[in-house]
Amino acid sequence: MGVANPRRQQTPAQRPPQPYALTMRNITLIAVHCTATLAGRPFNVSAIRNMHIAQGWSDIGYHKLIGLDGEIWDGRPEAAAGAHIKGHNAESLAVCYVGGIGADGRPADTRTPAQLVALKFVLQDWSCRFPDAIIRGHRDMSPDRNRDGRVTRDEWLKDCPCFDVRDWCRSVGIDPR
Ligand SMILES: [Zn+2]
Repeated sequence: MGVANPRRQQTPAQRPPQPYALTMRNITLIAVHCTATLAGRPFNVSAIRNMHIAQGWSDIGYHKLIGLDGEIWDGRPEAAAGAHIKGHNAESLAVCYVGGIGADGRPADTRTPAQLVALKFVLQDWSCRFPDAIIRGHRDMSPDRNRDGRVTRDEWLKDCPCFDVRDWCRSVGIDPR
C-alpha cells in the first residue's frame, strides 16, 4: 500500500524532444521550384540536403524533391516551414524538380515524362489535402513592382521553375486557384 503522491498527477507527461512542430501548419501556398541544374544531370535529395545544411540551414529547404526518373523524395517534414521563398515560408509547402536549365545554359522546361507524372501526383495530393492553398511557381511570387495585379516576366526575380505553373496545372486537370 502506498500513499498517493499529489504532485505526481500535476507533472506533465514527459515527451521526447521534437525537432519540429507536431501539428500541421496552415497552408495557403503550394510552390513549385527547380534545382536550376542542367537538363539530364542527376541530383538527389541527400546531395541537396547536404548543400543546404552546408549553407547554414537546418535541413533541405523543400518538402519534396522529384528526381529525373520521377523519384519523389521527402525533404523537410510538411509540418515544418521550409526555406524556399523569402517572406512565404511560414504558410507554404515546396516541391522542387531536378533540372530547369537547357543544354544552351538558358532556363528551360526540362521536366522528363516521369517528372511530369510525379509532379502531378504531388500537386494533386497537396491540392486535395490543402484546398485553400493556391499553386504557383517560385517566379510568380516575385514582387508586383508596378502594382498592376500581375507578376509579369520583367518582374521575375528568378526564372524558377522555368514553366508556367498555372497553365500547366490547368492542362493536367489541377485547379491552381
Ligand atoms: Zn525556386
